[in-house]
Amino acid sequence: MDVKFVTTTCPYCGGGCSFNLVVKDGKIIDTQPSQRSPVNQGKMCPKGVFGFEFITSPDRLTTPLVKDKATGKQRPATWDEALEVIAENFKKYKPEEMAVISSARCCNEDNYAMQKFARVVLHTPNIDHCARLCHAPTVAGLANVFGSGASTNSFNDLAIADLVFIIGSNNFEAHPIVARRIMEGKRKGAKIIVCDPRNTPTARHADLHIQHFPGTDIQLLNCMMKYIIEHDWIDKEFVENRTKGYEDLKKCVTQDKYSVENTAKVCGVPAESIMQAINWLHEYQHKTAFVHCLGITQHTVGVDNVRSIAFIQTILGNIGKPGCGVNALRGQNNVQGSCDMGALPNVYAGYLKVTDPAAAKKVAEYWGVDEVPNGKLGLHIPEMLETLEEHPDKLKCLYLLGENPVISDPNSKAVEKSMENCEFLVVQDIFQTETSKYADVVLPGSCFAEEDGTQTNAERRVQRFRKAADAPGESKLDWEIIKMIAEKMGYGKYFTWKTSEDVFDEMRKITPQYAGITYAKLDGDGIQWPCPTEESKGTAILHVKEFAGMPEGKAQLAAIEHRAPAEVVDSEYPLWLTTGATIWHWPSGSMTRRCKQLDKDCPTAWLEISPADAAKYGLVDEEKVTLYSRRGEVNVNVRITPNIKEGVLFMPFHFIEARANLVTNTAYDPVSRTPEFKVCAVNIKKMEA
Ligand code: SF4
Repeated sequence: MDVKFVTTTCPYCGGGCSFNLVVKDGKIIDTQPSQRSPVNQGKMCPKGVFGFEFITSPDRLTTPLVKDKATGKQRPATWDEALEVIAENFKKYKPEEMAVISSARCCNEDNYAMQKFARVVLHTPNIDHCARLCHAPTVAGLANVFGSGASTNSFNDLAIADLVFIIGSNNFEAHPIVARRIMEGKRKGAKIIVCDPRNTPTARHADLHIQHFPGTDIQLLNCMMKYIIEHDWIDKEFVENRTKGYEDLKKCVTQDKYSVENTAKVCGVPAESIMQAINWLHEYQHKTAFVHCLGITQHTVGVDNVRSIAFIQTILGNIGKPGCGVNALRGQNNVQGSCDMGALPNVYAGYLKVTDPAAAKKVAEYWGVDEVPNGKLGLHIPEMLETLEEHPDKLKCLYLLGENPVISDPNSKAVEKSMENCEFLVVQDIFQTETSKYADVVLPGSCFAEEDGTQTNAERRVQRFRKAADAPGESKLDWEIIKMIAEKMGYGKYFTWKTSEDVFDEMRKITPQYAGITYAKLDGDGIQWPCPTEESKGTAILHVKEFAGMPEGKAQLAAIEHRAPAEVVDSEYPLWLTTGATIWHWPSGSMTRRCKQLDKDCPTAWLEISPADAAKYGLVDEEKVTLYSRRGEVNVNVRITPNIKEGVLFMPFHFIEARANLVTNTAYDPVSRTPEFKVCAVNIKKMEA
């Protein structure tokens, strides 16, 4: 019997827990948490414990599939045939007729390879990835205020803060290992505030729960800033020396409409709760950490929500210090890294702007090509899907890595139409998905346990994936597949990597934040970027002395008004719907629902409804209803619970048989283009017998 232990990193949330894969006779049979990891300190959540079971699922793709011209059905093909079909078709289209979607499930090396492929081989600026659906507002919002779109502090800071202010994050379910660090602080006496429309497990552990209506975050934060400013509780020295735009912010938030009384009405919460939160912000100034997640970002005002959080922390002087900061809990395992790699339509690797001619020249010279797409932004995912749906003559070809937009994106029926309209669709994944069924070519990729690579967690910690087993059948590493297509299309000389480390080394030389990180250095506990030199040990806290990416090194404050969500309740659709994750599953469920234990613990979707609303509709617990909006409908069992506010419904988004995204809204934030998953107007009706 041959047993080995391979240390790697979790492929689910942005926590980045480290664990050993237990490999027996070449097969992964278990996981064991890493005791020494500074992230998880020997602990893991159910996804870490049981979430490896999908690796050996019989459903894994093992060979390329090509759509047969005669039957219109996909059939197994050789790699050579699949690559031939792809190269022949990719060559037919103009760059603006093509788009590429990369994946935060995949490692940094795959994402770097994918954005290079889009820009060098397809010459298209249309490259994006699933951060668009979750934390693009964090990147845009924090970059706007601080000059860097990443979390300012580390998980360690959450354990030493005196006050943790959680807004729009159910981290007990979505990032349990981070919740554990927060509870470490609570056991030492720290206070926890949770602002969330649901009484989540996270809220139930809080000292104060503000159960505000979805979409009222800016009203709440402006109100708190008004009181802090009017009572002279700001950090005057910090504001004077390290910020610009304070007077604009002050003029805005001190308007009467942001009074505690009016905010209590707009948000639907007791004024006393708001006052308690403000008093604690004052009492624990310079030792307060803010934590946010998708409850803040998935709104049409997502970028401004994030900026408002950054503003309140800035005027309190809670930036650049231990136990403080703005801590964005990245949704998927490698959202941070995929953004860092430049799998985005507005930046190359290292956040070099595509609109900056000097940056474009630098990238082109580094890659040894005449030019890379530059000057204007490429299409973001919602624009790609919209164009495919409404103008299929303009966008005709999509190359999609590790994403399942039919489940993950809002208004599923419209996404299905986009996929149907796509003239040539290539999907590279580890399973057949609801999206890959539309593909002309399906390519079998690999998962985290089958590759060497790196990923970057929510605290900017770069850590290793290590190969523990071979990918099944003829599956290949994702960057290898990208390289094979490039070679087939005559661009092999730009893709000469032989190992994952070769890809990483090419990437770090053009990505200043990663310049000093090497695979050898990652053999320890990972390194938090920026790590500018090989001597550097990385950086745990950003903006200690200045906001390096900003003019004059100062944070930019501004006026931001509260705005209502894109769709508001009315007599026809009188209920707010909000959506979210559970502790057992991960986005579209393609991996976790193939893990026996996780699927057994949480086999299907449900709709949370308050006892008052259930009574209004005459519903009993577990009764099946039709949930409907202006876009579609879905049948689901109700769960009557006092944990949801009257007038609000909640539904998890992982389940193909009850797709929450059949009803969600495609309206998106004008800056980040992130859809408003977190709030839309709906109604319910009893199922007809
Ligand atoms: Fe850790 Fe997140 Fe993985 Fe759970 S899902 S084990 S919290 S990284």
